[in-house]
Amino acid sequence: SYLSRLALTEPQLRSFLHVASSSLLRQAAHLDSKIAAGEDLGTLAGVLVAVKDNICTADMPSTGGSRILHDYIPPFDATAVRRLKESGAIVLGKTNLDEFGMGSTTEGSAFQVTANPWDLSRVPGGSSGGSAAAVSARQCVVSLGSDTGGSVRQPASFCGVVGVKPTYGRVSRFGLMAYASSLDAIGCFSTSVADAALVLHALSGHDPFDATTSRREVPDFASQFTSIHTSESKPLRGLRVGLIRETLDDGVNNGVKSVISDAAVHLEELGCTVTEVSLPSFSLGLPAYYILASSESSSNLSRYDGVRYGKRAAADELNALYGDSRGKGFGSEVKMRILMGTYGLSAGYYDAYYKRAQQVRTLIQNSFKEALQENDILICPATPSAAYKIGEKKDDPLAMYAGDIMTVNVNLAGLPALVVPCGFVEEGPAGLPIGLQMIGSAFDEEKLLKVGHIFE
Ligand code: GLN
Repeated sequence: SYLSRLALTEPQLRSFLHVASSSLLRQAAHLDSKIAAGEDLGTLAGVLVAVKDNICTADMPSTGGSRILHDYIPPFDATAVRRLKESGAIVLGKTNLDEFGMGSTTEGSAFQVTANPWDLSRVPGGSSGGSAAAVSARQCVVSLGSDTGGSVRQPASFCGVVGVKPTYGRVSRFGLMAYASSLDAIGCFSTSVADAALVLHALSGHDPFDATTSRREVPDFASQFTSIHTSESKPLRGLRVGLIRETLDDGVNNGVKSVISDAAVHLEELGCTVTEVSLPSFSLGLPAYYILASSESSSNLSRYDGVRYGKRAAADELNALYGDSRGKGFGSEVKMRILMGTYGLSAGYYDAYYKRAQQVRTLIQNSFKEALQENDILICPATPSAAYKIGEKKDDPLAMYAGDIMTVNVNLAGLPALVVPCGFVEEGPAGLPIGLQMIGSAFDEEKLLKVGHIFE
């Protein structure tokens, strides 16, 4: 039934770069043998997941949305994918993205543009736009994305689905194509917070292949839901919620502001106390993020040299081989990031850019810490506006970067965040969805999921 749903929707949406039609029954047969052996099937038995194409899957192409990896098939599964499979999930296919995760609309894919299911003339957001659109259009049940500066939360908001960006170190990055290693996180999309809790539980935990993963015990995120009585009039009594003042500034769309203040009222009705909290360094997040992310990416992307992976240009001399492979293999946004990154890291500019950005990062971490001592969770919009029109920001990189203001700080601080759909603005044929972002203390996904579950 999912394949026929795809046949119906995919011609307009173009969320997938690869559909594993021929291997679905083979993957499911694995479950049959478990049933025959009387083994536990796992919490995600038979659940169809879509995987962002910068996350490696054995026996399926993994392009990173880049021409340089157009025919790359990894010999291994990313740990996140392996864990989903071990929980019984079936990988339906690989989803479209901005090349190597660099972008906010999915227009930066080397292969195709994905449409927003709510309005086909708009973008699904990015860079995990394919994964968000796929869940939104019910092309799959849940999906994986990656979030370096908002790439799960922003498309979740644009497509009206739930998105989780876990704490840095909660989910292994092994097999995720590195963009900015100190910021990258694998996250997930779903249609409910309960589903997100199940998927996050399957994904989380220490991995010997990723030394930054935490050894902390992974709570059974979903089990707490059964003890919540939503019929209770104030199920969130006593929860202190901080609304980040700087996120409701002039640059934010009025429709978004009113949806977020309605959400704050709803949280109060559920028993929370909502107060405004100031994060003075909030606006510094954007420049710091773009310097750090570009710097790290310029180093990470040096591995695509035409020798070890993917596209190799025909050349009879080594420098020409590197130059041609990278020149023809990378798209323009990726090249711009590499140039910005190498500039910021170069001897003469390191102190003024990279080092300064690291100092700002510490300021941001500290201000979150303080705010989260006084509040259990923080809330703000996930995006300053609803989904953009296709092409609207494509030729204006600064306007595109500015749209990431709500999300990048969370990655700089390494914190977990959850986006839940919370209203609509009156644009497009059917209104456009807006997501509420909830930010928690490090490794406190449990609280976010609980609040999100009651809120939705
Ligand atoms: N839009 C941001 C960027 O282009 C975030 C991307 C991401 O989270 N992968 O860097």
